[in-house]
Amino acid sequence: MSKNGEGGGRRLAVLGSTGSIGRQALEVVERHPSRLEVVALTAHSNLELLREQALRHRPLLLGVTGEEAGRRAQQELAGLGAEVLTGREALEAAASLPQADLVLNAVVGSAGLEATLAALGAGKRLALANKESLVAGGPLVLEALKRGGELIPVDSEHSAVFQCLRGEDPGEVESIILTASGGPFYGRSREELKGVGVNEALAHPTWKMGRKISVDSATLMNKGLEVIEAHFLFGLPYERIEVVAHPQSVIHSMVRFRDGAVMAQLSLPDMRLPISYALSFPERWEPAWRRTDLSGLGGLTFGELDRETFVCLDLAYRAGEAGGSAPAVLNAANEAAVASFLEGRIGFTDIGDIVKAVLERHRPAPLSGLRDVREAEREAAERTAVLIGKR
Ligand code: NDP
Ligand code: MG
Repeated sequence: MSKNGEGGGRRLAVLGSTGSIGRQALEVVERHPSRLEVVALTAHSNLELLREQALRHRPLLLGVTGEEAGRRAQQELAGLGAEVLTGREALEAAASLPQADLVLNAVVGSAGLEATLAALGAGKRLALANKESLVAGGPLVLEALKRGGELIPVDSEHSAVFQCLRGEDPGEVESIILTASGGPFYGRSREELKGVGVNEALAHPTWKMGRKISVDSATLMNKGLEVIEAHFLFGLPYERIEVVAHPQSVIHSMVRFRDGAVMAQLSLPDMRLPISYALSFPERWEPAWRRTDLSGLGGLTFGELDRETFVCLDLAYRAGEAGGSAPAVLNAANEAAVASFLEGRIGFTDIGDIVKAVLERHRPAPLSGLRDVREAEREAAERTAVLIGKR
């Protein structure tokens, strides 16, 4: 297959290829060499892995966003036959590369927002793992989508909802039910959460993920971000987005219809499945991985999530309902607090307390452009830094 698309395969740009989602996406590509071809890859800091990936996939463009790695990029990525770009522009260039049909945004954090907007602005089909770009800039992403491009969710819950809605009339949906594993601390009291360390928070019971989302899963902020993500993706008000604990992570989410029927999507917890679906849509390609063997699953259970102990979930609903800049502030405060927790500077329950304090002091304003998002985030990050300093 040529990089000009003459072979008929889909030409893919992977943003954040060195991360957990990015690496699994390249496994999907390797499973389907005649259907998918990589035309761009980006990394933030891991030049060694990016180089390895480039040797295997021979993309046209390599992007490096991190400052320190950017200084070494031209030299360390030389001789691979790819154009090497650095800085923020690298991400946007990869997202809007003319030779790409499909863009996977697997960057972590709201740093992915510009790339989301660039991909849609260039009319691409965007497979979106970077939920933070919808949380921080949901109204801007919807505006961009009105003008062009297409959005396919990668997050397993939203992929499940997307699949359950196929062929259905959106007017007949009563609610969306997002499932949550509950994370490593499901069932614990606030007192029991106070002393938990970084390694415990990173030990997710059912998924192996990047560090930031693993902490978000432990605080339930991840579910909160997903509630906001679902609001923008599926256009439902917050009171019609439910969450339920489901520790086995086999039912990835559900849709409740007005006649009382509930549709669910099931599979073993393996991100390669929703990634593959987003890249193959509207087709379904054969998986290389374990089939979902129902007889081997044992029981599937459900329970309530404790929003008083796991305050982040509640805060996300509140920020979502407040709208405008509030979700961007929630997300920015959380990004800063999680980074401090990972550095050992604050405790686990401090994350929720700090995000709550920052959100309560914020007066939500409408978002009219990217600058408003960045301004709200800057303010939130400053306040968060002050609160972190006091711990
Ligand atoms: P990782 O931390 O594993 O990977 C993040 C990727 O983004 C890496 O390639 C990293 O580069 C790059 N990156 C880091 N900071 C920046 C930045 N400031 N600008 C541009 N690129 C950057 O994260 P995950 O793969 O776990 O998550 C990626 C996204 O997918 C997140 O939004 C997450 O919420 C979402 N998601 C993840 C799931 C999972 O199972 N992991 C499940 C569902 C959603 P480098 O490694 O070179 O530093
Ligand atoms: Mg998810």
